[in-house]
Amino acid sequence: MTEQYQHRARKRFGQNFLHDAGVIDRILRSVHARPGEHVLEIGPGQGALTEGILDSGAQLDVVEIDKDLAQILTQQFAARENFSLHQGDALKFDFNTLGAAPGTLRVVGNLPYNISTPLIFHLLHNAHLIKDMHFMLQKEVVERMAAGPGGGDWGRLSIMVQYHCRVEHLFNVGPGAFNPPPKVDSAIVRMVPYETLPHPAKDHRLLERVVREAFNQRRKTLRNTLKALMPNEAIEATGVDGSRRPEQLSLEEFVRLADKLHELGDPA
Ligand code: SAM
Repeated sequence: MTEQYQHRARKRFGQNFLHDAGVIDRILRSVHARPGEHVLEIGPGQGALTEGILDSGAQLDVVEIDKDLAQILTQQFAARENFSLHQGDALKFDFNTLGAAPGTLRVVGNLPYNISTPLIFHLLHNAHLIKDMHFMLQKEVVERMAAGPGGGDWGRLSIMVQYHCRVEHLFNVGPGAFNPPPKVDSAIVRMVPYETLPHPAKDHRLLERVVREAFNQRRKTLRNTLKALMPNEAIEATGVDGSRRPEQLSLEEFVRLADKLHELGDPA
């Protein structure tokens, strides 16, 4: 038994380690890192994806919260010139410290499912640095990210991700590819931040606010859910019918509502 297999998976860090060589290879081929590129891997764990990325010749920074795993990774990869390890919490990590030029950073990770949504929001706030992202996530989360308006999957996550990025659901991965196997199905998603936003809001924080407020009670009409933010006349002035429910609105319509709020003055 090699040293790396003596590590006991820690539930609190969402540790499900990839062991299926076919799946690992398929992810690496989807990412297709090249020499001269700058890759950030979040949660490298026991290095299932790390080794292949290092072999590509790209510069690789990894952020791992688990001190024991960080030690194992250091033993395994410290001699590689293109490897840099940051032991700490990716949710608190300042991506600007990596020194990547705008629009160049490639982010990769088999993410801990318990923090995947806040982590994606943290990354979206740094979207200007990022060229693309490839993540393993719970399949249900990928479905929500890639959803269109009109169904139950369309919500805050879909809208905020699609505001910044083009989203592609690449392929699904069953629990058997991991050790220990998770209770849910997983999927690989590719997210590519737009160089020019298709529907820019005057203030993206107001867009986040409107969307959060609207989906707090997704069964109610907009005129009800947005009552605290804007009167129905303001909603109707954007051309949106206040009797519609939030899940029926497109991203572009939410941006119109956020811009109206901007015009009325920040209610905060
Ligand atoms: N990439 C490895 C693989 O595919 O086998 C491990 C994936 S495992 C699902 C998630 C990894 O993220 C674990 O190594 C865990 O320790 C790490 N992790 C959990 N929370 C983290 C956080 N807040 N910041 C950085 N790493 C974290």
